[in-house]
Amino acid sequence: MTASVMASAHASGVRLIRFLYCDNGGVVRGKATHISALEARLRSGIGLTVAMQAMNAFDQLQRVEGMGPVGEIRLMPDPSTFVVLPYAPHTAALLVDLCTQEGEPWGACPRSFLKRVAQQAADMGLMFRASIENEFSLITPVDAPLDPTLCFSTAGMLAAQAVIDDLFAWLEAQGIIPEQYYPELAHGQHEISVQHAPLVAAADRQILVRETIRAAAHAHGLRASLAPKPFLDQAGNGGHIHISAWTTDGRNAFWDGSQPLGLSAMGRQFIAGILEHLPAVLALTTPSVNSYQRLQPNAWSSGFRCWGPDNREAPVRVASPYRHDLAGTINLEFKPADLSSNPYLALGALVVAGLDGIRRGLDPGEPVMINPADMPEAERSARGITPLPRSLDEALDALERDQLLLDALGPALATSYLAVRRSEAAACADLSPEEIARRHRFIY
Ligand code: GLU
Ligand code: MG
Repeated sequence: MTASVMASAHASGVRLIRFLYCDNGGVVRGKATHISALEARLRSGIGLTVAMQAMNAFDQLQRVEGMGPVGEIRLMPDPSTFVVLPYAPHTAALLVDLCTQEGEPWGACPRSFLKRVAQQAADMGLMFRASIENEFSLITPVDAPLDPTLCFSTAGMLAAQAVIDDLFAWLEAQGIIPEQYYPELAHGQHEISVQHAPLVAAADRQILVRETIRAAAHAHGLRASLAPKPFLDQAGNGGHIHISAWTTDGRNAFWDGSQPLGLSAMGRQFIAGILEHLPAVLALTTPSVNSYQRLQPNAWSSGFRCWGPDNREAPVRVASPYRHDLAGTINLEFKPADLSSNPYLALGALVVAGLDGIRRGLDPGEPVMINPADMPEAERSARGITPLPRSLDEALDALERDQLLLDALGPALATSYLAVRRSEAAACADLSPEEIARRHRFIY
């Protein structure tokens, strides 16, 4: 593998290779090596201070035991992720695990956490596939949305066509198959989706997609914001997660044609697990202060704990399968997720919660067929359709109480994650809503 990476790096005239990871604050960070040292770096990685997993999204370092100024971890590249970056001259990238000096997965490594979760699923005979939708805002140098066009309007396509053309070309060049594109509801808001992949590959790909969206905007003198709510008077940016489970003999485990909605008993249990752990899961899928400016009833981001077929106000939507391949295409869409999340942590949290539902044989109750915000309050409470957390601190409180998720994360990741995200909430406590949106606009 090392040899083939070296060969393609040389063949493609690469000079610099970025070693990329995503941190507890959901920020994509990395270091780069010159090609002359690549072979050695593929073996031993690049050193990084242990403090970086104690750094929040505003670059404020938090006090976390074992993550002070002394000590190093290694950014250990996964050679199978090598990709030449079509938007950066003579530059390639590798996704990395955060490892100890001995080359073992470090306790606070998000990518290693997701690998453990994928293994847990494999032990139960399941392989998950996922894809994260990307809503983003194109913003001009004077901080205004690129276009004031209508939802799905061709005028919006026209306004952004040069950016979108580069974006699609660059995704293809990286071997990422794009699926759909359209202008979304908010001014300057656009959306792309890409093909699904097994969990770790889906998260790796998500990092590359985020990077490519930002690069495409930059190439046209614009900036892209993937923040959950860059402008308070406009619709937010979601990062809806689509997920399906597959058996070892290649069947979609969420499909059962004899059941209502074609949803298997296992699919129902998986949904029930997600709903059971939902407030804590949100701490990892809608993990920034800005997330809670987006997450509200009647914003199609979901506001109440429930599920339903093609219900865009439900946290879990059973997406209609394609009629030519019902058994192959049924999947669940999880809406309270955004792109301020670390994709390794978000996907891992969702699967940990869902697997718990399968193990315990939980039942999600009846699907909700209307907007839950329109349901009489008495009916909502009778059916356990509770409001979602209204702030990051509320979601973090739920995570602190959720032993299943804490155990899955492990002490180093859980402690550093909670410290980092708590500190972001504290840093925003006295800021106006406008200032909060502004502070997050270009972090993500
Ligand atoms: N922009 C909405 C959100 O924040 C989603 C709109 C949609 O794609 O249904 O999640
Ligand atoms: Mg959308």
